[in-house]
Amino acid sequence: MGRLGKWIEPFPDGIYVRPADAWIDPSSPKPTALITHGHGDHARGGHGQVFATAETLAIMDVRYGEQAGTPVGYGETVRVGEVEVGFVPAGHVLGSAQIVLDHAGERVVVSGDYKRRPDPTCAPFVVTPCDIFITEATFGLPVFVHPDTGSEVDRLLHRLHAEPERCVLVGAYALGKAQRLIMELRGRGHDEPIYIHGALERLCALYEELGVPLGELRLATGVPKDELKGRIVLAPPGALNDRWSRRLPDPITAMASGWMRIRQRARQRNVELPLVVSDHADWDELTQTIREVAPREVWITHGREEALKHWCMIHQIKARELNLVGYEDEDD
Ligand SMILES: [Zn+2]
Ligand SMILES: [Zn+2]
Repeated sequence: MGRLGKWIEPFPDGIYVRPADAWIDPSSPKPTALITHGHGDHARGGHGQVFATAETLAIMDVRYGEQAGTPVGYGETVRVGEVEVGFVPAGHVLGSAQIVLDHAGERVVVSGDYKRRPDPTCAPFVVTPCDIFITEATFGLPVFVHPDTGSEVDRLLHRLHAEPERCVLVGAYALGKAQRLIMELRGRGHDEPIYIHGALERLCALYEELGVPLGELRLATGVPKDELKGRIVLAPPGALNDRWSRRLPDPITAMASGWMRIRQRARQRNVELPLVVSDHADWDELTQTIREVAPREVWITHGREEALKHWCMIHQIKARELNLVGYEDEDD
């Protein structure tokens, strides 16, 4: 027996699976790509052929135009070259998957981005035991422990009801976070129309088409100020401080992101109401997941790798940093 996983080769622009002649989440166009989920830093346009879940392909169609894609459902496998490739839920956004690779008697699981806490817009993470677990580490420091999502959403609603002459403008990533926040609000009884920035329109419509009911959404653009008083307005983070937001009635600026744990980041964006809602595993979820997956080796793709690598060493799991570039989870 040689070195474990020698058929998997990390390059700066993606993970190359040699016996499949395929790349996972490559940052440049490749003949064959296996895509974990629809976020722009993982799913890019221009590949020859794409294997992904039907939902991820639909998201890519919206963003890049029609893809030459082969849909693979959760729990299904497809043979690519000499590798059996399976897709298993990652709990990150709608359609997000861990990619399970079986070859030469070894099983490698590439997590992509993932989280462990419930998300009403997507299937929950499934633990898949394997030899090598390739994980992200976006929030791979013990200081990152995300609070309960429900209490963050309650803070938003309290603030909204306390200041009926204002609106709450929430910055939320257009794919996943925005729809999750809407569902969390609906789940807590907020049935009123939610106003959205035009940049969220197509993805919200797609979520609806794919069976995620978001309730009544209205475009915020062109709506008179008075109508927006006491309302929630969702916009991509980039729109929080731009001209667009000046037309809102004295907005309370909020942002839903795991990074809101860091006060300085909230200040940078002039965020008055930071909401710590993340689509990534926090430190406890990362370490819990590694315990449950119980791999022989952990390879870390991106994020704060050092602390997680150290944790693995203490727990007698061989760990390695891949230092992949191009994955930016700034807004997640
Ligand atoms: Zn992502
Ligand atoms: Zn990512």
